[in-house]
Amino acid sequence: MATEIEIIPCLSDNYAYLVKSGDYCAVVDPSEPGPVQAALAKKGWKLTHILNTHHHLDHCGGNLDLKQQTGAVVVGPAKDAARIPGLDVGVDEASGWEFDGRKVRILEVPAHTRGAITFVIDGNAFTGDTMFLMGCGRLFEGDPQMMWSSLSKLMTLPDETPIYCGHEYTESNGRFALTLEPGNRALQARFAEVKATRAKGRPTVPGTMGQEKKTNPFLRPDNAEIRKSLDMETAGTVAAFGEIRARKDRF
Ligand SMILES: [Zn+2]
Ligand SMILES: [Zn+2]
Repeated sequence: MATEIEIIPCLSDNYAYLVKSGDYCAVVDPSEPGPVQAALAKKGWKLTHILNTHHHLDHCGGNLDLKQQTGAVVVGPAKDAARIPGLDVGVDEASGWEFDGRKVRILEVPAHTRGAITFVIDGNAFTGDTMFLMGCGRLFEGDPQMMWSSLSKLMTLPDETPIYCGHEYTESNGRFALTLEPGNRALQARFAEVKATRAKGRPTVPGTMGQEKKTNPFLRPDNAEIRKSLDMETAGTVAAFGEIRARKDRF
């Protein structure tokens, strides 16, 4: 049976996701219980699992209420077991996970937090705050080298991989990307599309890994135009990546 994914806007700019397959229904990163309950009621789905990409409260703030109401099993990063409310099953790259009888890949992608993971369910990547559309997360518990390694790992996913990230930051990310790469045609076109989508109040998720590789400056630190904008034409990849992150922090 095909996997169905429902986008649930939460808080001011968070996304939680319902992932439904057969009798199984998981919510990824429930910021708060209310919108998740409303989405479940609307679809007539019963929650069986709660998946967390990392421990920040805007990604697991709904864990305990939803677990209490539904008995759902909480699955999250084993490396951050103590910081995930109600965690039942800790997972990592070696353990992987299983959903409706199918293998789920777990990618360990530290740097935003040290325990951050990405779930790859039926070919869909749930990246939390590690990678956003045209952006990446802040380095709260890691350094540029660590984040570059994590993003490089995500880049090994096939180009057609749908990317479901943790926040609607796409328009602002695109505006920043254009400061570094004003001549990137793919970026110009995507930014126009994103602006139109947001003007209608619609979510920009999911993107695809292929689109990201063409437009996300954090995946393109060796691009010639970006290097010129940074005035770092001979620096190493990680140094350039770190400078892009630093500039975004000030943007
Ligand atoms: Zn976070
Ligand atoms: Zn977040």
